[in-house]
Amino acid sequence: MNLFNVYPRFDIPITAAKGVYVYDDKNQKYLDLYGGHGVISIGHNHPHYVKRLKQQMEKISFYSNSVVMPIQEELSGFLSQQCGYSDYSLFLCNSGAEANENALKLASFYTNKRKIVSFKNSFHGRTAAALNITDNLSLSAPINLNNFPVEFIELNNKVQLLNSLKNEDVAAVIIEGIQGVGGLDSPTNDFLKYVSSCCDQYDALLIVDEVQSGYCRSGKFFAHQHSGVKADIITVAKGMGNGFPVAGIIIHPKIEAKYGMLGTTFGGNYLACAASIAVLEIIENEALLDNVRLVSDYVKNELATIKSISKIKGEGLMLGIELEAPIKDLQKELLYNYKIFTGSANNPNVLRILPPLTITVEEIELFIKALKMILK
Ligand code: PLP
Repeated sequence: MNLFNVYPRFDIPITAAKGVYVYDDKNQKYLDLYGGHGVISIGHNHPHYVKRLKQQMEKISFYSNSVVMPIQEELSGFLSQQCGYSDYSLFLCNSGAEANENALKLASFYTNKRKIVSFKNSFHGRTAAALNITDNLSLSAPINLNNFPVEFIELNNKVQLLNSLKNEDVAAVIIEGIQGVGGLDSPTNDFLKYVSSCCDQYDALLIVDEVQSGYCRSGKFFAHQHSGVKADIITVAKGMGNGFPVAGIIIHPKIEAKYGMLGTTFGGNYLACAASIAVLEIIENEALLDNVRLVSDYVKNELATIKSISKIKGEGLMLGIELEAPIKDLQKELLYNYKIFTGSANNPNVLRILPPLTITVEEIELFIKALKMILK
């Protein structure tokens, strides 16, 4: 049976990994500044993570949500300590798209409205509702079109925001903490505050999609916390399980749960919880937030000295390096000549950097040196 060929792939079979490095089948080492779409938060094969998962697997790997699972509460306890939303609740699911799907559903249940406000260049996933609020028509099949009304407005445009909310028919505004796939544009702190106050005024919920920008990647637990704003619903995935498929939505206490309102077979299984707890333990024990800030400052300062870089976007270790021209050849040169994995974005001129949060200045120096050699 052939694989259904939907992914353009680099012809490099990655067969092993450790820390910030991945290795191909010939044991060639690569510096991983992409973490498989920003998933690797605490580094590949961290010994504590591996141990936690092995220990859990020896006890029990799976049972469904038809029984109480204390490990889910252990996870929500750890998460609430670290993420600053201690009075909120957690619903566990399996992917970023599923998290957004459920967040939209909750907003619609709660407000009894159907319209959603989303942003130009946004990406929220590939399931039906998540696609409907993603600003990329080419990803939609005919059955995905016009599921429910969505207005796409420009990021940081207060006038458009107000116009879209003033009829009070909007269930939620959904915004990425930092746009990932789109090209690393961020809402300003001032704009996020405005969104939050408008949502309150016009009875809409504020959903922040932190699937890519969350879990300390931006230098705060959530990227939107740079603004001091509190969201009604936050969606998380990628870095949460360091590669184990797990996701969640963090829900304001005003939204009441009812049996059957949301559900999933695999969500919150024992292994997913063990992986997620290990990630949070490592984030805390290794002070990874401090590391993100330290390495980010170093990288930003070094990038600022390279003349052909026109803009440095993003926060922490979620960075976009914008050139005047497409980055495609640069990305290939970094990979094939310097053995460094990086990412791209919808904006063809942006190189996307999402290294493990454990990376050191010494490790990322290789990238800076390579960039300086290539871009001169
Ligand atoms: N939301 C954002 C901001 C993302 O970057 C992504 C994936 O890249 C998703 C949602 C979808 O996540 P998943 O691929 O786990 O469904």
